[in-house]
Amino acid sequence: MPSTVYYTSMRTRPGNNLPTKLNKLVDRAGLDDIDFGGRFVAIKIHFGEPGNLSFLRPNFAKVIVDYVKRRGGRPFLTDCNTLYVGRRGDAISHISAAYENGYTPFSTNCHVIIADGLRGTDERNIPVKNGEYVQSARIGSAIAEADIIISMTHFKGHEMTGFGGAIKNLGMGCGSRAGKMEQHCDGKPQVNTTRCKSCHRCITQCAHNAIDYVDDKAHINIDKCVGCGRCIGSCGFNAIVNRNYNSAKLLNYKMAEYAQAVVQDKPCFHINFVMDVSPECDCRAENDAPIIPDIGIFASFDPVALDRACVDACNTATPLPNTQLTESVAKHGDCHEHFANANPNSDWQTCLAHCEKIGVGTNQYTLIEVE
Ligand code: SF4
Ligand code: SF4
Repeated sequence: MPSTVYYTSMRTRPGNNLPTKLNKLVDRAGLDDIDFGGRFVAIKIHFGEPGNLSFLRPNFAKVIVDYVKRRGGRPFLTDCNTLYVGRRGDAISHISAAYENGYTPFSTNCHVIIADGLRGTDERNIPVKNGEYVQSARIGSAIAEADIIISMTHFKGHEMTGFGGAIKNLGMGCGSRAGKMEQHCDGKPQVNTTRCKSCHRCITQCAHNAIDYVDDKAHINIDKCVGCGRCIGSCGFNAIVNRNYNSAKLLNYKMAEYAQAVVQDKPCFHINFVMDVSPECDCRAENDAPIIPDIGIFASFDPVALDRACVDACNTATPLPNTQLTESVAKHGDCHEHFANANPNSDWQTCLAHCEKIGVGTNQYTLIEVE
């Protein structure tokens, strides 16, 4: 059975601006069917790495916050900490970045909670239904404990996954730092002794007694290490790293299974914003020029159908000139699919196919336009 995806264009007129259209869109798509009364509602969003200006405007978040509050829900805006060096790797930096980008309670009427806590180690292990690559996903606690999930996703390109849509926002975005490592890497981390400050914090976090000290620098005993990644989050100096990167295909399989862990047992609703479609992720501290024109806002209860509808819509759009996409086509040739053209090593089909296989959703959809 196809899922229904609702869509509204970027066209506006007096009395029908984009916030108004977003409210109408989610209403028509059935968001009101969820019983919000008294429940914690995690609104999963990417606050944008400072320097990148293509992240979602807080104004859109406020529309959804107000929608949920009018129905008695208790929303919070949330994301998990990042694994890489940047401005969102611990809760204090992350909240500061969110505020810097306008996600303050004054503009959104809502608080920000970093789901995996101060150091990115506050997680819940959630067994994955039908999981083949991940037995137990490490999901940020506040998201795992929320009663309802609403994802709001800036739909754009991505270096590894082709595009970043609802599945990536849910799967990668809701993973704790160790959860992100599990999706990106296999194997065991190492200590960068130049960065190690000998603070001895990581040893308290390792449940396997795998860390000791050599010349007063942390050292991981690979015979004892099980590759859980917990020490990576515990180090405030980015001294513990894992460079055993997974293939794009394995990353996609694992990301699909993490998304399953997030959505499998609770009411969920998903909104994708296909605008400012930069070729790469909002995690970067810059955003290259959009590769296609703005298309609109899409919403559905099915995150797979939603992503599929968005990627299909993008692929019918004419590439904008003088962009990373046109440069990449000139260099690598045209494979007639914008996201593969923009990032030739990526493979988004694998992710959506695996999502369908394990029951996250379907690639079949019916598209309904909302004025
Ligand atoms: S937590 Fe980081 S800085 Fe501290 S001892 Fe471990 S590796 Fe070194
Ligand atoms: S990855 Fe896990 S088991 Fe290995 S050293 Fe770090 S905390 Fe210990």
